[in-house]
This record gives sequence, C-alpha cells and structure tokens, in this order.
Amino acid sequence: MELWYSERGIVPGLALSVEVSKVLHEEQTDFQHLAVVDTPLCGRMLWLDNIIMTSIKDEFIYHEMISHVALNTHENPKKVLVIGGGDGGAIREIIKHPSVEKAVLVEIDRRVVEVSKEYLPEIACALDDPKVEVHCVDGIQYVRDHKNEFDVILVDSTDPIGPAVGLFEGSFYKNCYDALKEDGIFVAQTESPYYNEELIPKVNKDIRSLYPITNIYLAYVPTYPSGCWTFTMGSKKYDPKAVDFSTRPSYKTRYYNHDVHKAAFALPNFVQELINK
Ligand code: SAM
Repeated sequence: MELWYSERGIVPGLALSVEVSKVLHEEQTDFQHLAVVDTPLCGRMLWLDNIIMTSIKDEFIYHEMISHVALNTHENPKKVLVIGGGDGGAIREIIKHPSVEKAVLVEIDRRVVEVSKEYLPEIACALDDPKVEVHCVDGIQYVRDHKNEFDVILVDSTDPIGPAVGLFEGSFYKNCYDALKEDGIFVAQTESPYYNEELIPKVNKDIRSLYPITNIYLAYVPTYPSGCWTFTMGSKKYDPKAVDFSTRPSYKTRYYNHDVHKAAFALPNFVQELINK
C-alpha cells in the first residue's frame, strides 16, 4: 500500500506531498509532533508538526546558504550562535569555517537534537565537535541573557507557529542585536516570497530599524513551499555585497560559492517590491 506524507495548512490552499517508503520514528515531544521518514525521492526527511524541515537530498542548499553568506561577509567570525536548527545542519557548515572557535546551538526541543543524531547522522555529524556547545532552552530567553558576545547569529527556525512565533518578533530581533558584537551579523530564514507577502516586509522593516546594512537574499530549496526561499540579513558593519573574496578561506561546499554569494542578492522585481512596501 502506498504511503504519502503531506504538508498542508502552513500555506493555505497548498499541499506538498511525498511518497514515504518507511516511517522510522514518530513521537509527540513537549513542543511538537516529530517524524523521521524514508522517501524514494528525497531520501530521509525530518518533519515537525507535519511540515518538512529537511531532506537528505536538498539539505545542503539551505544549510550552506543560511551559514556561509554571513560567515564570509564577516572578516573574522569566531563565535557563532544558532537559534533553532536542532538537526545540526547549520552547525556542520559553521565549523567548516576556519576562524570559528565556538559554535553555540540553542534549540528548544531536546528531542529534535537526539533524534537527528540517531537518524540523520549526515546532518547532525558536528553536534559533538569540541567547538560546539548545545543548549536545549528557549532561544528567546537565551538572547535576552547574552550581550555583546557573538560575531554572527543565525535564526534557523521553524515557520512562525508554536514556539517559533516569538522568533519573528521585533523584541527578539532587538535582543539579537544586543547579543552581537559591534561588527556583528544577523541572518534569519524568512520563508517564501510567493506565500509570505506579509511576513517578509514586516521582518525587513524590523531589521532595517536596527542595522545600518539590511539585505534579503535568495536560495533555491526544492522541498520548501515554492522552492524560492528568503533569508534576511542585518549587518552592523560589513557589507555582504562588497566582500573581498580574495581574503576569504576556501572549503568544500555543494551549493555556496563566491558567485552564488554575489548572485543571491540579485532580487527579482516582485521581491524588491515586497521589501519596499
Ligand atoms: N530549516 C528548517 C525550516 O526552515 O523548515 C528549520 C529546521 S530546525 C529543525 C527548526 C527548529 O527550531 C526546530 O527544531 C524547533 O524546535 C526550533 N525552535 C522553534 N522555536 C524555538 C525557540 N523559541 N527557541 C529555540 N528553538 C526553537
């Protein structure tokens, strides 16, 4: 009998379905419904609250693009904070960068970390690295308690529902700003420009009110709604569009490279219009 998993409801009127060959794990955690399934098309997948989080086939695109654009914009990133991201994909990318001395992961749901280590070792493989610190607490509280500490903060959150609602609010962005050093960089995943026409201008306005250099950039993530995904970056000092790549380290990536970095900031008119709203 065929089994299909369907992501429905997060974008009203849209369903994204994938054939499942095996359900490896399912549980209700203290925060959300968590499932790991094998699929013929996308390989192993992590789902939270019936929404696709990541797949072995395309995870490299999202994880490289949420991490390396900021890490290469900053001249010397040493201490990096990830809020959310309990699968470990962003952390794996961050510690590829040779200047990084400490990567801190703050994931509210301990089970996402534990289950990712068990079922998604290709993604979670860096979580036990000596440079990595994992805290299973609420990221909203964590940034409130830390000031002037990080070079880069990445918000690798779920969609703005449940415990992630506060990760899209102005007060959280202000606390992230204060948790960054004087030349720090902030990046948040900010959903699809096709289906999140309200959210993207709101986040852009909030980030623009804090940082002198604010930009949106794009990546193509096949398993997310529409495939076209935005990241919003606020930078206190470094301009991501004026990076001297001759001074940047090289390491192995599958999607990110210096041309992709530059091209990611080229916005189609409809996205430009969204942020000018
Ligand atoms: N790349 C994914 C996407 O865009 O679909 C996000 C993946 S990652 C697994 C998102 C994580 O954010 C989840 O594991 C969730 O538990 C975590 N999260 C949600 N709200 C949080 C909060 N307030 N503090 C820390 N982590 C949070």
